[in-house]
Amino acid sequence: MTDKPIREALDAAGRVPSEQDLDTLSRQLNRPVRDVVEIGARCVCGNPLVATTAPRLSSGIPFPTTYYLTHPVITAAVSRLEAAGLMGTMNERLGDDTQLAADYELAHEAYLANRDAIGARSGTGEVPEIAGVSAGGMPTRVKCLHVLVGHALASGEGVNPLGDEAIAQIAEWWTKDKCFCEGAWETTGQAPSQDRSRHVKTQEKVDPSVKRAERARKRAEREANEADQA
Ligand SMILES: [Zn+2]
Repeated sequence: MTDKPIREALDAAGRVPSEQDLDTLSRQLNRPVRDVVEIGARCVCGNPLVATTAPRLSSGIPFPTTYYLTHPVITAAVSRLEAAGLMGTMNERLGDDTQLAADYELAHEAYLANRDAIGARSGTGEVPEIAGVSAGGMPTRVKCLHVLVGHALASGEGVNPLGDEAIAQIAEWWTKDKCFCEGAWETTGQAPSQDRSRHVKTQEKVDPSVKRAERARKRAEREANEADQA
């Protein structure tokens, strides 16, 4: 474990996901969410902005990406920044600006410290397979702005400099002081059905074919994400 100060936007009570939060996350993502252990950030209205996943999934798979941006208005706005080439200029600046590079390295360390804390709180404990591995390209590259924005929202301002910059740059579409939820996702009918295996201990012993399918699904999701962000 780490002795670094942990900075989190929400207090302990605010992080606890309610049934309604899980329902909202599934609607925001238009798929059932799994292995969400906390809410990382919330809209001023209370709706989730960021889902927090434990560093080890209930299937046993190590999972480095702790914060997942779920609010469709924010994800779309961040995708616009990526499409406009912001990651390229950020990567150039990381090569030239030693202060920025140092601050970004600290963001990486803060990410790992938060993830350790979340692993401890959620009961998954340490996950040696992903020790020192954060997400989004940290500590030296920017590969996914959604990851950086998710981290910046979950940590509060001043932790992830490039995440903070991206948030400032989407101000024309989203700002944290206002609610942009209305009409942002389908609120009628059934939410994509929930998988609550994380909370059902007896389901943890899954057979290998299920694990293989899970890995394939994760891989497909990752590739889809990467294609999205290319
Ligand atoms: Zn809202």
